[in-house]
Amino acid sequence: MIKKGLAMNLPMHARLNRVDENPTVMRLLKYTPPVDESVRCLAVLELFQENSDIFAIPVVNQDNIPTGVVDRHSFVESFSKPYTREIYGKKRISDFMTKSPIIVDKETSIDDIARIIIDAGMQHMVRGFIATDNGRYIGIANGHDLLNEITQRKQANLFYLAHYDQLTKLPNRILFLDRLTMAIAESNRQKAQVGLLFIDLDNFKHFNDSMGHGFGDRLLSTVAARLSGCARESDTVARLSGDEFTIMLENVNSQDDLDILCNRIVESMRQPLQIMGREVFITASIGTALCPDDDDDPAGLLVKADAAMYEAKRSGRNTYRHYVAGMNLYSFDRMSLETDMRMALERNEFELFYQPQVLISTGKIVGNEALIRWRHPERGLLSPVHFIEIAEETGLIVPIGKWVLKEACRQHIAWMENGMQPMTMSVNISAMQFYQTEFSAMVRSIIAESGMQPMYLELELTESLFMHDVDAVLKTLRELHELGVKLAIDDFGTGYSNLSYLRRFPIDRLKVDQSFIRHIEREPVNVEIVRAIAALGKSMSLELVAEGVETDSELALAHSSGCEFVQGYRFSKPLPAAQLESWVKENRLNPDYPTDYSR
Ligand code: C2E
Ligand code: MG
Ligand code: MG
Repeated sequence: MIKKGLAMNLPMHARLNRVDENPTVMRLLKYTPPVDESVRCLAVLELFQENSDIFAIPVVNQDNIPTGVVDRHSFVESFSKPYTREIYGKKRISDFMTKSPIIVDKETSIDDIARIIIDAGMQHMVRGFIATDNGRYIGIANGHDLLNEITQRKQANLFYLAHYDQLTKLPNRILFLDRLTMAIAESNRQKAQVGLLFIDLDNFKHFNDSMGHGFGDRLLSTVAARLSGCARESDTVARLSGDEFTIMLENVNSQDDLDILCNRIVESMRQPLQIMGREVFITASIGTALCPDDDDDPAGLLVKADAAMYEAKRSGRNTYRHYVAGMNLYSFDRMSLETDMRMALERNEFELFYQPQVLISTGKIVGNEALIRWRHPERGLLSPVHFIEIAEETGLIVPIGKWVLKEACRQHIAWMENGMQPMTMSVNISAMQFYQTEFSAMVRSIIAESGMQPMYLELELTESLFMHDVDAVLKTLRELHELGVKLAIDDFGTGYSNLSYLRRFPIDRLKVDQSFIRHIEREPVNVEIVRAIAALGKSMSLELVAEGVETDSELALAHSSGCEFVQGYRFSKPLPAAQLESWVKENRLNPDYPTDYSR
């Protein structure tokens, strides 16, 4: 439940982004003119009677150094007794004052003074305490004000803890939804629009797994700062959970305003991040939605921006998409997805689709990548962007990945039995699967059971996997290589800028990430990057696959930049096995494909 106007009900300073760490006593001081030690008691009594707001009067010596304090309550009370005026009125105040006041330096923090007073006795709550600068009196503070301050700070801290993310210092989901609710209410009155960006980092999990959580945390806070830098002062940047961020924009004129911010974010992510002495790259997928056009309810708007974000992921990540009516709305239901996933294997709900890989020079299909799909009983066909991450986080990827491997090998054999040419079968392997002890033994036994020739199996590994325990990784890679299976690095070029590690590992192919191929004709930098990767690949006798090739111009540039193989919508989307089979048999490559098929 979202409480309306949550932030409004709290003290102003509690709404600041961050509670002042621990202010000094200066915040509480009032300047009450001190009296000299030689002043007569009657004069002090008059002072109290004339100034009803003075709760205590400090006493100082000639050098303005405090020597005591007179507290209103006990002093005035003593003088209300019979004859006191006559007997004591003329005495010096030094005979009456409390000789052991609490005296602290002006730099003392509120927390420290609270502790000092508690230790010294609660009577000091009434008398308050004196503050000095270089030993000289500068003011006096009331115990009540101190109590108030402490209580407010506690409240503010509690508010802060409950509404801000401790890691990035950004508003959390609760505060974000609250602000969104208020902004939407305000926009209804003003007939204005509110924009929402839902941002999810690409492959964040790989960093977390391979570099450790400390590294992941630093990465998140650095990204948070970068996102805040892209937004305007008036926008709210929040961290919803994990690697999910949101930005709310008020008074949006049109979709263009959201485009500008999305572009700024994508652009800013091109700069490497410096994390713990390493230079890393990370990209983000962004979905946007507008209120009231797409939804006028905060939770609904978030679900729609999230659906658009998944579209951005499906489009190859590192990009943004706007919500369009009809996009699938899955989010916010992670828990149930997780529960369902536990049953999905038994219920046979997973399927593999296959996307052909083409050798550019001949235009022939030489292999296929197996891509998992989940035919969810209620949600329909789910793409891996919706569930692989959860599978990895829950460990379910281990049994699921094993099923994928078995199924892909089985399909390979089935195709061969149907008279198809042998083609390489590429299977994606998650880091967690790879790190399982006995991973290579499992691969060996699956291949053996299926009857497949190992040379037709290719395992697609991610770059981040190589950053882990190098010796163990190397051992497994060698075992796999000895089995005769091929090894490829998937999404190559994203994440790590240090490529020297490559030489140490027995790798056969690099799959250049789609983000370099997308609009390569418009991005001369990408041409340079692909060329550099090609040169590196060549020097190590690696084959190069361009991923995500959608257009002729991308195909031409990928080829001229040094990629021999391509995979992408230009040829085919991933297809169910039967469809792929007829596609291959009919040799239904695009008729415009400008190569000679006869070879
Ligand atoms: P990936 O391994 O990089 O696979 C390529 C993805 O790009 C596929 O998305 C594919 O459909 C998409 N794609 C291919 N050509 C184009 C194109 O021309 N344009 C665009 N926009 N996209 C294209 P898909 O099937 O949604 O898979 C997403 C990711 O999920 C895969 O990325 C892979 O990392 C992971 N994945 C898929 N199946 C498995 C699996 O069985 N096990 C594991 N561990 N991960 C898997
Ligand atoms: Mg892949
Ligand atoms: Mg890939």
